[in-house]
Amino acid sequence: MQVECVGCGEELLEERAELGYRYCLRPACQEEYRRGPEVTAVGVNKSGESFVVAEPDEVRRRAEAGEFAAKNAAVPPTPGAGVPAPRRPQPAPRRPAPAPVRPWTAQQEKLVRLYHDMGLSPRQIVDRCRESAPRLRVDERLVVKILSAPRR
Ligand SMILES: [Zn+2]
Repeated sequence: MQVECVGCGEELLEERAELGYRYCLRPACQEEYRRGPEVTAVGVNKSGESFVVAEPDEVRRRAEAGEFAAKNAAVPPTPGAGVPAPRRPQPAPRRPAPAPVRPWTAQQEKLVRLYHDMGLSPRQIVDRCRESAPRLRVDERLVVKILSAPRR
């Protein structure tokens, strides 16, 4: 069934005629015959249509803006003149690991390393620390921690 535009006589698109339109998409005909919001079918796929109540112009604008495009569709970057194509988004670079926490004082470390450099074992280091600086409260666990940490 051919339907002609009541305004200009142009043949209407079949889909448009099926939707009950009797005028075409020309601005002049739209202007003259359009009456408020219309239900416009937006073809989504063959199995179904999504109906959008909106002015045809608005539907077209929204379609042009990609609103009805498949979500997550891969859109190739459009390289501008001289502008490198945007890189694919990458996971944020890992922050450098924070400096290891050193739950000991510089004084403790200095003494432990001093005895360590003298060739003492952790047990001996603890003993020497208790003798020479009991207030530093150096124990064997602390000695091991200090000696396994990189030097500051
Ligand atoms: Zn027309």
